[in-house]
Amino acid sequence: ESSFLMPKDILKVVIIGDGGVGKTCLRNQFIHKRFTNAYKATIGADFITKEVRTEEGKKVMLQIWDTAGQERFQSLGVAYYRGADACVLVYDVNNFVTFSHLDHWRSEFLKQSSIPYDHSSSPPDFPFILIGNKIDLDDRVVSRRQAKAWSQQYSPRTGPAIPCFEASAKDGTGVEEAFTHIARMVKVPQ
Ligand code: GDP
Ligand code: MG
Repeated sequence: ESSFLMPKDILKVVIIGDGGVGKTCLRNQFIHKRFTNAYKATIGADFITKEVRTEEGKKVMLQIWDTAGQERFQSLGVAYYRGADACVLVYDVNNFVTFSHLDHWRSEFLKQSSIPYDHSSSPPDFPFILIGNKIDLDDRVVSRRQAKAWSQQYSPRTGPAIPCFEASAKDGTGVEEAFTHIARMVKVPQ
């Protein structure tokens, strides 16, 4: 497993993907262990912080950002992405279009967040994770194999492919595992 040297213990994590894939519900499930459909009338973006532990048992705060739904109509803007330490890409396993937009979201993230990297060479060594959501439904059109194939295109020379998870924000399956993986991808100094 590759590690990313980050001299801090509050990690900014942004969640991106098409509107409706379940980004807000995934965060709610991870933070509150609940599935809520409540409409959130915030403007812009907000974050909630949750403590997790690294493999070495060190405490890390995940500062998890979420949009107010503006991804449906407009770009999220640089402030949302700036300074991100990890990026969660979400699609809906029952909706192929949301899966086909992952390349767009990944490159949008890299452009807006100003992660320094050489565009001409290998993909940047940045902690992305991929979550295929809504696996509780019976309309799956994107297989695990397809998701893996997508993630393997973006394997940095020095590291593994983008880790792939599947989850249900509704019943909680896979949610904790995916988010806590973020803390394992970063190396926090002792
Ligand atoms: P966002 O636009 O990506 O933030 O998506 P939301 O979190 O607002 O969810 C969009 C819709 O999908 C809502 O109606 C949710 O109730 C529903 N939803 C989200 N996650 C799941 C899931 O895992 N399973 C099912 N069945 N529905 C979900
Ligand atoms: Mg949302």
